[in-house]
Amino acid sequence: MELAVQFHFSAAHRLPRHPGRCHRMHGHSYKLQVLVEGSPDSDTGMVVDFYDIEESVGPVVRELNGTCLNDRLENPTAEAIVVWLWQQIRPELAVLSELRLWETDSCFVTYRGEPVAEKVTTPGAPGPHPSTAPPGASPSDE
Ligand SMILES: [Zn+2]
Repeated sequence: MELAVQFHFSAAHRLPRHPGRCHRMHGHSYKLQVLVEGSPDSDTGMVVDFYDIEESVGPVVRELNGTCLNDRLENPTAEAIVVWLWQQIRPELAVLSELRLWETDSCFVTYRGEPVAEKVTTPGAPGPHPSTAPPGASPSDE
């Protein structure tokens, strides 16, 4: 069984590595859906109290609201923001199973805590050698 709670926050960002419109400072009204998964407790009848989700996630969302995301993340794409949110929320909410972050009404990213390999783009240098990949990342040639 899955339960979800939605949160909203507004924040500014610019994408320094993006050549298009998002290179310049601008704002978004983000929507975050927090999904938890489990079976209802035989005693309480709940997977988790909705109030507990609000208690775990609310402070994180309020911390971002009205801020410039570049103060926190060098390249605050929706992908980077949702990973950051996961890292903040997961320790507080063990039953967390998925985050979905809308940057606009029609664009969202879904993250379930899978490892994200940092793509190293050094001009003129070949890609990272498999032996230098971070722990948990599997070489792409397997
Ligand atoms: Zn943007």
